[in-house]
Amino acid sequence: MRYISTRGKAPALGFEDVLLTGLASDGGLYVPETLPRFTLEQIASWRGLSYAELAFNVMYPFVEEAIPADEFRAMLQDTYAGFAHNAVAPLTQLDTNEWVMELFHGPTLAFKDFALQLLGRLLDYVLEKRQEHVVILGATSGDTGSAAIEGCRRCKNVDIFILHPYQRVSEVQRRQMTTILGDNIHNLAIEGNFDDCQQMVKDSFNNQSFLGGKSRLVAVNSINWARIMAQIVYYFHASLSLGGPARSLSFSVPTGNFGDIFAGYLARNMGLPISQLVVATNKNDILHRFISQNRYQVEQLHHTLSPSMDIMVSSNFERLLFDLHGRSGEATAALMAQLQKGPASIEDYRWQAARELFDSYTVDDESTCATIAEVYAQTEEVLDPHTAIGVRAARECRRDTSVPMVTLATAHPVKFPEAVEKAGIGVETSLPAHLSDLFDRAERYSVLKKDISVVQEFIQKNARI
Ligand SMILES: *Cc1c(COP(=O)(O)O)cnc(C)c1O
Repeated sequence: MRYISTRGKAPALGFEDVLLTGLASDGGLYVPETLPRFTLEQIASWRGLSYAELAFNVMYPFVEEAIPADEFRAMLQDTYAGFAHNAVAPLTQLDTNEWVMELFHGPTLAFKDFALQLLGRLLDYVLEKRQEHVVILGATSGDTGSAAIEGCRRCKNVDIFILHPYQRVSEVQRRQMTTILGDNIHNLAIEGNFDDCQQMVKDSFNNQSFLGGKSRLVAVNSINWARIMAQIVYYFHASLSLGGPARSLSFSVPTGNFGDIFAGYLARNMGLPISQLVVATNKNDILHRFISQNRYQVEQLHHTLSPSMDIMVSSNFERLLFDLHGRSGEATAALMAQLQKGPASIEDYRWQAARELFDSYTVDDESTCATIAEVYAQTEEVLDPHTAIGVRAARECRRDTSVPMVTLATAHPVKFPEAVEKAGIGVETSLPAHLSDLFDRAERYSVLKKDISVVQEFIQKNARI
């Protein structure tokens, strides 16, 4: 399998190099040159497999040149054995033909564990083979940082530096990062906001000379193809659990960077029968405005009760635009340049094609809390605010009630107590057993000035290179 850039000018790479690269050198994102396609018979034959075995069947075509089958199988067994629920991604019923798929049983209680637990093991394997060292550098406003640290803490040839805005992440989220102690783990609290952190990370990726050629930076956000790849699996898992592929399913996905829903779009292109894919957004609704009105316009960032979706520009959207433009790198590069300048739209027939693929809906904080309360009254299930947005959108956009609708439950409600409290259901969520002593654990982090040279010096001094 070869991977190509959405902007057409960077060299095609194999899986190993795509894993170890952030953006392509032309500024684009890497996508597979061709997707594997499975027949309905093949998919049906996977019924009854464990999550790890299913993951092997879905993902192996993407990695086969880089990793022997037995090694990859073992890696997946190990990855998903670390989840707290035997089913890995259990489905819970809310109503007739309405479900949530619980993606929060990994170590950090958010769906990002599905990909980042695997990413750590992939890095370890590939770096050991190549005898190379890398530095993971990332910025986080919450879930990505802890999932990346948990996923890569045991990697031998990796040092991890995660930037978060000082005193601007919740205490649970901070402690999930700062209580994981290790020589290769560094939490940097930056005296600035999330955008400042993000900017320093971007600038460091663009000029890595501060590493002196002894290492390179690896991205852990969803521009990294391996993250998208791992998320394709649970769409197949949901289908096989609910009578597929003989019947079709619909999905509603709480969306920020467009990574999770893009994985659903790929699952459909790989042969999985999917009826509707609903893009559920909070007040940061650029994707909803594009899908409903063909208008792509960046607005100011809103802070909401669903902070993991507080994103102005969704980077993975470029991967969809590439497909909508007949996979022309030239057309995609031109469009991305235009989007930088201001509001834009695409040709009507391309937009119509996008509307065939996706529905969308936007949910404000008030409706988020009302949905948490509504679902609690109907089922006694407590949803986290991101999942509540997904369920609201699913209920509003659903076209055919005979088709099962599955909302991806992207986080455990205990991570977002503010929204649950505002919903007024009178329930206090508690930390699961493996995190019950989170507030008693020792923390370690460094507070640094909002200055890229200070951050880069810290990395030089502390990375084991
Ligand atoms: C990251 C995250 C999202 C958004 O996922 P994308 O792949 O960026 O669209 C939604 N919910 C939660 C809880 C998250 O952590």
